Amino acid sequence: MKILVVNAGSSSLKYQVFDMETESVLAKGNCERIGTDGSFLTHKHADGRKKEYHEHMPNHTAAIHLVFKALTDPDTGVISDMSEIGAVGHRVLHGGDRFSQSVLVTEEVEKAIEDNIPLGPLHNPANLMGIKACQEVMPGTPHVAVFDTAFHQTMPPEAFMYALPYEYYTKHKVRRYGFHGSSHRYVSAEAARLLGREGDPELKIVTCHLGNGSSFAAVKGGKCIDTSMGITPLEGIPMGTRSGSIDPAILQFVMDREHIDIAEMTRILNKESGMLGVSGISSDFRDLEAAAGEGNERAILARSMFIHSGSKLIASYAAVMGGVDAVVFTAGVGENDADIRLKMVEKLGFMGIAIDPARNNVRGKTAELSPDGAKVKVFLIPTNEELVIARDTEEIVEKLK
Ligand code: ADP
Repeated sequence: MKILVVNAGSSSLKYQVFDMETESVLAKGNCERIGTDGSFLTHKHADGRKKEYHEHMPNHTAAIHLVFKALTDPDTGVISDMSEIGAVGHRVLHGGDRFSQSVLVTEEVEKAIEDNIPLGPLHNPANLMGIKACQEVMPGTPHVAVFDTAFHQTMPPEAFMYALPYEYYTKHKVRRYGFHGSSHRYVSAEAARLLGREGDPELKIVTCHLGNGSSFAAVKGGKCIDTSMGITPLEGIPMGTRSGSIDPAILQFVMDREHIDIAEMTRILNKESGMLGVSGISSDFRDLEAAAGEGNERAILARSMFIHSGSKLIASYAAVMGGVDAVVFTAGVGENDADIRLKMVEKLGFMGIAIDPARNNVRGKTAELSPDGAKVKVFLIPTNEELVIARDTEEIVEKLK
């Protein structure tokens, strides 16, 4: 079966086509600037050939039409007809507490995604637009929703509750949800496989998804029992442009002095804080590494804060699981930045967590980084959220037959 995986943002739509017989990506691409001037699609065939389509995309439906033009293009396309796509898997940010796994999209599911818009105000409307656009263009094809929050629904209440008046939880569903769920699920399952301990209820893994957005998860027996992002992706470790966890009293303090309202404060916490805010240089870890190499104090500080927060999370998740068997690094920074990986575990030797510097000299491919005989295995495992979406979609669609 061929499966189209769609990740719709407010002005973008990323896609990949999988051949599930081999689990290989046949083609992928991205529609950018949807709804604005100068919209275009960049399509990449698996053999490396690229093609750009500069066509006006007033909305997501137009984008999906253009995706099909690219997919059936005699030059760089991978299918001859839309009917070759057996199913579509959609990445959806927020499933709230309603979805603990992927589901076939029905009217009821769409309504639930809509009901969760207050929890994911930037993403859920775009995800819904992507679903509706695909349904319009492919009415007879099954659609599956895969939620970023679903994997974390196994957290116990002591991990997901905030110490606020209880009614905020019962009335407004204020609780920790967590994100990057497909990534944490994928890399923890891969680690279990590498250890030959799939299905072991006692296997304890800390997964570190370090990218533009970063999150950690404590995964025990294949189930998430704690994670660092919260009701939104703002909580946890400082990130590219997000502050991560801070004393909430800072908000009023700064708002009074900078004469800004809560909307502006929230924007700053999401877009102008983190690595960018501290360094004043960039949110990109490559830029920070370069600046730190030239002795830039604030770039060095930003990276040190990221490392410090990450170390604390790894150690605290080992504590909540009562031990740790493996630590996994993944995503843009986790897969590429050897220095961050090394320093994040540098002080954790007392727990049996260590990286062999020679083995750590690797990027973007699965590798064991811990020394031989180490008590705790440290792995680099490239994440593959799209494959998780494609696999879930296939599994759900197969059951319909
Ligand atoms: P997201 O999916 O959250 O947007 P990614 O997981 O793609 O992010 O990670 C993107 C980040 O990875 C970039 O901002 C950059 O900081 C970091 N990154 C990518 N390549 C490298 C590299 N070679 N060295 C260090 N950091 C890198």
